[in-house]
Amino acid sequence: MEKISSKLSEIKNKIEEAKNRANVNHDVTIIAVTKQVSIDRAQEAINAGLIHLGENRPEGLLAKKSELNNQAKWHYIGSLQSRKVKQVINEIDYLHSLDRISLAEEINKRAEKTINCFVQANVSGEQSKHGLKTEEVIPFIQSLGQFDKIRVVGLMTMAPNTEDQTVIRNVFKNLKNLQQEVVKLNLPYAPCHELSMGMSNDYEIAVEEGATFVRIGTALVG
Ligand SMILES: *Cc1c(COP(=O)(O)O)cnc(C)c1O
Repeated sequence: MEKISSKLSEIKNKIEEAKNRANVNHDVTIIAVTKQVSIDRAQEAINAGLIHLGENRPEGLLAKKSELNNQAKWHYIGSLQSRKVKQVINEIDYLHSLDRISLAEEINKRAEKTINCFVQANVSGEQSKHGLKTEEVIPFIQSLGQFDKIRVVGLMTMAPNTEDQTVIRNVFKNLKNLQQEVVKLNLPYAPCHELSMGMSNDYEIAVEEGATFVRIGTALVG
């Protein structure tokens, strides 16, 4: 396998170039998605300087965390079943998949601290994708005020599976517009400054469109 450190410097260069092309000035945080790799490979990612790791199953998260623990910040990026909330919610630093009130209720019941959440939007409208429809996002966030453990730090989406870069770019643009609408609501529990978007195949477009977190698996640790 290719060394993570060399893949990382290549990705960092591409991110810098994308920022320059689009006049983006904010930091972009790379989340190394380690769901498909071993604990040793995740350790290699940390050794290469990656701090943020992403997992999409409770088992994977807990296995990696028990070995690597406080060397990393942990992102839960998969859809989360309500009955699994208690296993993971106090083990993570960010949840990227808040998409329903029943999940918010369960989180509020189980969390021992404030949980940084991204509300997941299905901007592309693909049937197979999790997340709220675009028009549901604002009312959903407005209804979260009753849950004192939930802090909406941003919005998250996955681009559709397509070669058409214009389609992908429009999804990211729409998420950014939605994020700015949420900011304007001025809700104390929903500052919503972050945008979690972009994966191995589309992170450069996501950065151009304002991503603050990119979630990269295959191209980085695969
Ligand atoms: C697996 C996964 C990623 C990373 O995908 P790659 O194409 O391997 O970079 C990012 N986000 C989510 C939600 C994922 O499930």
